[in-house]
Amino acid sequence: MDAPAGRLFLITGPSGVGKGTLVQALLERHPQIWLSISATTRAPRAGEEEGRHYFFLDREAFAATVAQGGLLEWAEFAGNCYGTPRQPVEAQLAAGRPVLLEIELEGARQVRKSFPSGFQIFVEPPSFEELERRIRGRGTDSEEAITRRLARARVELEAAAEFDALLVNGDLQQALAHLEQLMGLA
Ligand code: ADP
Ligand code: 5GP
Repeated sequence: MDAPAGRLFLITGPSGVGKGTLVQALLERHPQIWLSISATTRAPRAGEEEGRHYFFLDREAFAATVAQGGLLEWAEFAGNCYGTPRQPVEAQLAAGRPVLLEIELEGARQVRKSFPSGFQIFVEPPSFEELERRIRGRGTDSEEAITRRLARARVELEAAAEFDALLVNGDLQQALAHLEQLMGLA
């Protein structure tokens, strides 16, 4: 089945829960979905490419983009700024494509106000211990970054009930099937 055209979907949940993994698997199976590429002041991780994973900006350029109204939403997360470029999202929605944002909690709350008809999914880990294992297992973050992300995760998990749907990412294939069902793709 085709994804509903011109609809805004949003996936959020604590760092390390597997959002990126789920989204990449989803896009492979449903290439008609358009994924928003965010701007960030975070330094690229090994293997991350400009314009594919993120648009990497310094703080000055990020602030200038905010001042020009160029971001649909933005937030600070674990010491860096992240935001969704406005123009491409509006263009893709106008063209009738399903649009997907993968962003953190504060940004999701902003988008809820500006796109009340969007559909927002919160991804939960099977347990907090498993979340910590995944963040560490990913091997991309410093100990300081891990500590900040885990502290933030506790706050984010408390907000799960605000969302249109909850998705537990235990077994990846089961979670993917559930995500497809929630997005009307199954
Ligand atoms: P996020 O984008 O939410 O920060 P990632 O997609 O980077 O999370 O996943 C964090 C780590 O957890 C990665 O090493 C990934 O391979 C692993 N992971 C993702 N989903 C699962 C799953 N269902 N079961 C076990 N490990 C997973
Ligand atoms: P990471 O540094 O692990 O790539 O991302 C950290 C957090 O920032 C994740 O929770 C991710 O969903 C979130 N994020 C990525 N892009 C955006 C964005 O454009 N806006 C907001 N608000 N959060 C984002």
